[in-house]
Amino acid sequence: MANYYNDNEHLKFHLNHPLMKRIVELKEDNFKDKNLYDYAPLDFEDAMDNYDKVLEIIGEISGDIMAPNAEEVDHFGPELIHNHVKYARGTQENLDAIIQSKLFGMSLPREYGGLNFPIVPYVMSAEIVSRADAGFANIWGLQDCAETIHEFASEEMKTKYLPRFNEGATAAMDLTEPDAGSDLQAVMLKAHFDEKQGVWLLNGVKRFITNGDADISLVLARTEDGSQDARGLSLFVYDKKKDAMKVRRIENKLGIKGSPTCELVFKDAPAEIIGDRKFGLITYVMSLMNSARLGVGSQSVGIAEAAYHEALKYANERAQFGKPIIKFPAVYEMLSNMRAKTDGIRSMLYETARYVDMYKIYEQIAKKRKLSADERKEMKYYQKYADLFTPVLKLFSSEYCNQIAYDSLQIHGGTGYMKDFSIERIFRDARITNIYEGTSQLQVVAAIRGVGNKSYLKRIKEFEEIEVLPELDYLKKILQKLTSHFAGITAKVYDENDEEYIDFHARRLVEIAGYILIGYLLMHDANLDLKYRKSADIFIRMARAEITRNISYINNFSPRDISDFKM
Ligand SMILES: Cc1cc2nc3c(=O)[nH]c(=O)nc-3n(C[C@H](O)[C@H](O)[C@H](O)COP(=O)(O)OP(=O)(O)OC[C@H]3O[C@@H](n4cnc5c(N)ncnc54)[C@H](O)[C@@H]3O)c2cc1C
Repeated sequence: MANYYNDNEHLKFHLNHPLMKRIVELKEDNFKDKNLYDYAPLDFEDAMDNYDKVLEIIGEISGDIMAPNAEEVDHFGPELIHNHVKYARGTQENLDAIIQSKLFGMSLPREYGGLNFPIVPYVMSAEIVSRADAGFANIWGLQDCAETIHEFASEEMKTKYLPRFNEGATAAMDLTEPDAGSDLQAVMLKAHFDEKQGVWLLNGVKRFITNGDADISLVLARTEDGSQDARGLSLFVYDKKKDAMKVRRIENKLGIKGSPTCELVFKDAPAEIIGDRKFGLITYVMSLMNSARLGVGSQSVGIAEAAYHEALKYANERAQFGKPIIKFPAVYEMLSNMRAKTDGIRSMLYETARYVDMYKIYEQIAKKRKLSADERKEMKYYQKYADLFTPVLKLFSSEYCNQIAYDSLQIHGGTGYMKDFSIERIFRDARITNIYEGTSQLQVVAAIRGVGNKSYLKRIKEFEEIEVLPELDYLKKILQKLTSHFAGITAKVYDENDEEYIDFHARRLVEIAGYILIGYLLMHDANLDLKYRKSADIFIRMARAEITRNISYINNFSPRDISDFKM
């Protein structure tokens, strides 16, 4: 009997972060639902107890059902039958278990049948599910689409669609097309309003759509004839019951095989518009993508945790040259680095989730009453940091989960290359995380402004203000020194006043910011609980070495030198 929540002490640590009290009290708005719903919490402690219980159920389903199913799902995958998707047997069993336990629509308000959970425990559930089966985590995680309907659709649409999510309706996010991948402004699937029927009709093709045959799909489409950019795009809800969209194929891919990736053909498919015309990409998809990037963050942390567990177990059991391989410095070095990186990205994940919680809760309150000046200020503060942290989280967590899966396979030696051990699947599953929901390169494009306008530096300075235990002071000194190197190298690159040169070194600059931020987060975790001291120590020293390397690379390639690279 495995429980992926109870066996992971780090989850409880992050769930009990000091900011959770404010998050819960704001979210529950003085616990006003307690007289309306028998499952609504009475106070903060009761709410935390609820999250704990639900996470325990998810931990149990993940450990006892999803993880044992993962290998079979990976082997058989979904099938295409008469242009519709049939999930693998294990995927359907996972889904049934989740639906039976009423765990869809967790973050939706109670008036729509949800549990009104903050983002933090929801993201935690996604991490737990991802550790068991990263492919299934996509089907689970696409309930994010309900949030977009909740935030931006009309009251009538909310009443119509949101309760269906709680009953187990699955979702899809239909953005990508053959000629519109990273550049979603190029989307061409057409939506036109049919005056006779009084309905919008969709025509065109979507590619690489996860869970493309879902019950409820959000579809990005061009509504403005003759337009070429983002201002011509709107967002729609397509209901599978309309039966006007066909799955043309399911992609045969490297990993996350349980998650069907579909090519879709829409033919006069009736759909309902969300919010206002022309705001599809600019506002609604941007918000959806930010949630989805947080989702990939949780998926990456779950994969990293799974890979670490497999490596630790194997390294203890496997003996060579007369001793367990975990006793060799080359092996324990890899394992400790894996642990420190996993702790680091997890800390970044929940920090970002708390920022998102804080500003999104205020946004919902603002729909019901006017916020005070202080509340508005606080909302803007957290929104700014949520936007700044999200691309760094996506970049680091996805790249690290790949590195951790790679090292875990290495620790398994030849055995890791065989299908007999789950690391072979985990290694393949990890590879998608730094590609979808915006590649790592696109996360750098999103983050580099925060380097140039010194927003990351400002946050780092705020972190610096937090007092730490005397035994952690040496780590703070290292971080302060690294911060001054960061400011120096940033000024040097920007002083060249050369856009192409900034883009050329952008990844290295964003990485330096990320190393320092994660270093501070781990040090603050150690400040709350000294069991994190080891990870903080290892990560910050590793960060110092990486930052030195990045700075040396930048200093080696001046604006004149980059022409040598041009293709
Ligand atoms: C398994 C899977 C599931 C998916 N699920 C979904 C889904 O559910 N819904 C959906 O809408 N889409 C989905 N996608 C699509 C996914 O989001 C895109 O594949 C991804 O955004 C990249 O687009 P692309 O494949 O067209 O690559 P391209 O945009 O062609 O990029 C190719 C390369 O060029 C680089 N590049 C492009 N532009 C820039 C730039 N400005 N600066 C620097 N480098 C750049 C990229 O980083 C990449 O290395 C999925 C894809 C896969 C593989």
